[in-house]
Amino acid sequence: MSGIYVHVPFCKSKCTYCDFASYPRETGKAELYFACLYKEMKARANQYRKKKFDTVYIGGGTPSFVDEKFIVGAIRQIKDKFDLSAEPEITIEINPGTLTEEKLSAYKAAGVNRFSLGLQSADDRMLERLNRIHTLEDYLSAAEMLKGENFNADALVGLFDQTEKDLEKTLSVIADSGASHVSMYALKPEEGTPIFSSYLNGDLPDEDAVADLYEFGVKYLKSRGFDRYEVSNFAKKGCESRHNLNYWRRGEYLGFGVAASSHADNRRFTNTEIIDEYIKCILSGHFAEISSEEITGDEIRSEYLMLALRTEAGVDHEEFRRLFGKPFEATFKEVLKSQGKYMDISGGRARIKPEYLFVQNSIIISFM
Ligand code: SF4
Repeated sequence: MSGIYVHVPFCKSKCTYCDFASYPRETGKAELYFACLYKEMKARANQYRKKKFDTVYIGGGTPSFVDEKFIVGAIRQIKDKFDLSAEPEITIEINPGTLTEEKLSAYKAAGVNRFSLGLQSADDRMLERLNRIHTLEDYLSAAEMLKGENFNADALVGLFDQTEKDLEKTLSVIADSGASHVSMYALKPEEGTPIFSSYLNGDLPDEDAVADLYEFGVKYLKSRGFDRYEVSNFAKKGCESRHNLNYWRRGEYLGFGVAASSHADNRRFTNTEIIDEYIKCILSGHFAEISSEEITGDEIRSEYLMLALRTEAGVDHEEFRRLFGKPFEATFKEVLKSQGKYMDISGGRARIKPEYLFVQNSIIISFM
């Protein structure tokens, strides 16, 4: 089954490390933007009439920043136009500084059953430095509202002067607040973001320090009952994100809105990042794709390996043989010889050992 992603590109302000498609100065366009989203959904539904969908992910940006009527409207459109499974996983990203009881009730009534809170750090001074709009207190009240719900919290590793103690505080706040899932990301300073100059000035920890901190975080999360199931994702038993698992299993998904990507019928396509361009295309009856690529032969295999090796489950030998008609171990005999020490080949699967998942890119490249 496939997934649906909806991009909401509005935020109250821009975080210093953010290079996502989010536009704090464009929030006045929300009404028009959502009208375009609904139009895009209708057009894609006609195109992919036969597909069945099991997950919906509303991300951004800050979906919880816009009026809840837009989110409810988007979910209604999806339910009306697409063939959704009986119990779909429906996730919304929430900035802790924007959640209210009214919004939460509206989301839940519309069918949202999974929430993702962007905490990033439990240190208010750090949050301020990152230009986050919320405090630790905001996170705690949002988590209190979500008590008993299935929710994720995001944590960042590699922040200014961050110590193991700082990271432990963030992760313990998350664990104590009742989260069932943690996405722990290593900060990657991207060119063009304000934090990039701090990186160039050497004000951020270097790669080795980040890798050590990350390893510390992995152990801490394990001690709190969160199992790693993908490079940056950790979950209590049974609380893995179905939507993300579908990405890593090379499943199909349709993305709606600016900068949203899709993968369907072995084609990958992405919408423009420019909000006005997106609106113009959709209003004139066109899609807003700026790139489209057919994936064939070896590329399918490379994608499959790249995604599967990011996960704890790794590559299933049987599945590999079924998909590509060749045995995994024989196909990669030479690679496995050179990369063997980083891999765990057992139980009919090939996995990157957990301690090397953080540096998985160089290992994965050798399989390409
Ligand atoms: S809340 Fe998220 S999307 Fe918005 S500016 Fe911050 S990091 Fe970017």
